[in-house]
Amino acid sequence: MAVRLAVLGLGHETNTFSTVPADLATYEDGGIHREQEVVAHYATSQATFAGFLAPAGEGVDLVPLLAAWINPCGAITAEAFQVIVDEMVDRLAAGGPFDGVLLGLHGAAVAEGWLDADAEIAARVRAVVGPDVPIGVVVDMHANVDHRLVETVDVLLPYQTNPHVDARERGLECRSRVLEIIRTGHRPGLVLEQLPLVVTITRQDTREEPMAGLLAVARELEQGPGVLDVSIVEGFPYADVPQMGMSVVAAHRDGPEAARQVARTMAGHIWNAREELQGGGVSVEDALDQVEAHTGGKPLLVLDVGDNVGGGGPGDSTVLLEAAVRRRVGGVVTVLLDPPTVAGIAGVAVGERVRVEAGGRSVEQDGRPVPLDAVVVGRSDGHYEEPTMAHGGLRFFDAGPMVALRTDDDITVVLTSKLVQPITPYQLRAVGLEPASFRAIVAKGVNGPRAGYADVCGGQVVVDTPGVTRLSVREFRYQHRRRPMYPFEPETAYL
Ligand SMILES: [Zn+2]
Repeated sequence: MAVRLAVLGLGHETNTFSTVPADLATYEDGGIHREQEVVAHYATSQATFAGFLAPAGEGVDLVPLLAAWINPCGAITAEAFQVIVDEMVDRLAAGGPFDGVLLGLHGAAVAEGWLDADAEIAARVRAVVGPDVPIGVVVDMHANVDHRLVETVDVLLPYQTNPHVDARERGLECRSRVLEIIRTGHRPGLVLEQLPLVVTITRQDTREEPMAGLLAVARELEQGPGVLDVSIVEGFPYADVPQMGMSVVAAHRDGPEAARQVARTMAGHIWNAREELQGGGVSVEDALDQVEAHTGGKPLLVLDVGDNVGGGGPGDSTVLLEAAVRRRVGGVVTVLLDPPTVAGIAGVAVGERVRVEAGGRSVEQDGRPVPLDAVVVGRSDGHYEEPTMAHGGLRFFDAGPMVALRTDDDITVVLTSKLVQPITPYQLRAVGLEPASFRAIVAKGVNGPRAGYADVCGGQVVVDTPGVTRLSVREFRYQHRRRPMYPFEPETAYL
């Protein structure tokens, strides 16, 4: 008899400071894939579900049920959560019995009524399959992991790269662990060690210090006898929940006590690096000074921290665009969400001139619509593909109808109809632009754009812009976070 594994998931990175709800309409607009749609959308990508669904050889039946995933924004509405999770568990019950479950979660999901939405999903899955069927979960490195999730599942593997380029690999590894539990009947100890610590978004790149060194320690600890996994979780500070912050997840063959020991050793190394885990950025004017001074060579990647689409930013802040237009800094390209403007000039052909007000429509950022007198230089239906590797491993993107405009000062603005993370140069190529031809590419992200643009850009500028994903988390008003925490309360003690 073949081993049957259910494949399903619901992922959302919730920015609780955003007022844009994750509602059912948003999920239904391309965010939910069912059965063979899951295979079509993910199997050839580099995402978690690609790892879950990779060819497993004889004796293993992979049964894709449902995968729901949308861009980060505000909390999942009560309706969306109920409808989608109900469908997940109904499909799980109807398609069973299963020998194991592969569950894809983000780990920083908040739903109306559920500050620990990921744990709630896992608990409902557990209620269907019962206590004996192993559940393996992969979460994002930005997960805010809580104890209920860890207690509910058997395997929990966070990504260990940021930008996230190991999602597929973690999915595969998770599946191997679940299969091993099915084969041996042995459940390794799985523990969570939460630190009272937040890492600034500008210190999260795992290819740079201090994260690179900390991850090297984790990999070294994994060489210990019986140690299965020592994972560092960066956490997501833009979600106001009790479990917000950095943590360590560890698994050990000898049980929870042994896992706890190695997790605390790792946590101690992280805690000692807490000052280096705080970082800053440059001002808008300083960033434009750097762009002006940048002549020749590969384009600069200018990162708009406050409107980080990958962290729940609305994607239409014009703070950097306004400054570039005011200072007439040419050779710059940026992408903004602006469905009404795209619709308003739908009939204008490439080569014709338009006058529009671009971006700055959402209520929660500081920029205003920027008047542009520009020529239409490109159009696209917004479907494009990243054939190699981008942050999170996604392959297929849908930005809705897109239009590229260029001003007489050589400032290029690409307007989209749907919110997408600017994590692949194929987004610009979709409207006929050559990314390498610009002096600077302004991207609404921090770590996400770095993987896709690694070959295109030479150097990056991290800009401390306002918005719901701004650098200084001390400016947010938290109700639910633990207290004390570093750096909010600098005297915080731990271990
Ligand atoms: Zn992430």
